Amino acid sequence: MADAKRILLFGPQGSGKGTQGEKLSEWLKLPLIVTGNIFRHNIKEQTELGVLAKGYINKGELVPDAVTNRMIGERITQEDCAQGFILDGFPRNLVQADALDTYVKITDLMHISIPDDEAVRRIANRRTCVDQGHVYHLVYNPPKQEGICDEDGSALEQRKDDTEESLKKRLGIYHSETEPILDHYRPYGVIHDIDGIASIEEVWQTVQASLQ
Ligand code: ADP
Repeated sequence: MADAKRILLFGPQGSGKGTQGEKLSEWLKLPLIVTGNIFRHNIKEQTELGVLAKGYINKGELVPDAVTNRMIGERITQEDCAQGFILDGFPRNLVQADALDTYVKITDLMHISIPDDEAVRRIANRRTCVDQGHVYHLVYNPPKQEGICDEDGSALEQRKDDTEESLKKRLGIYHSETEPILDHYRPYGVIHDIDGIASIEEVWQTVQASLQ
């Protein structure tokens, strides 16, 4: 059996992590773990975790590390992750990267970059499905039927934290806290630099090629 692939999707808001993550998960038959979706699911179900996370997420801030680290630690040690996994949205700072190192060894980090002005343009047209967080773009990746998710038939909505103000704050945190952890991963030799400006299909070709 091939070696387990433990892949991180890394890049700013709107860089295409969610879209490429769904493709990767299908291609490699590995679970896709999206921190934002886990939080949003917990908010919807009003769990203890959801109630805690909601305030931070609505303000565009990071949920505290202790909470997030434990949540991811529990998830990636489940049995369906034994052959590998794809992680989107974690780690987002050095404390989280250090915590992840204590759980597993990452095999690939897909670093997808786009400029901030493109992120702002993309997020304005982003829609996500309410049930499982499948991602669409009104122009580049529209659903077959307006307002309905192709995958699970649930309604599409604009995320409450996808306002211009929240996005600017999240991009700021990305540049100040998340991007610098590339230096943590550089010595591991796992980084694949991918230009996220190309079309969804072109980015996908690059992602696939870099993993073969
Ligand atoms: P985006 O990448 O567009 O900011 P996500 O859906 O990945 O959106 O995350 C939404 C929110 O969930 C973040 O703004 C943050 O509040 C919280 N979140 C997601 N991942 C993490 C993380 N690793 N650590 C702390 N908070 C997180």
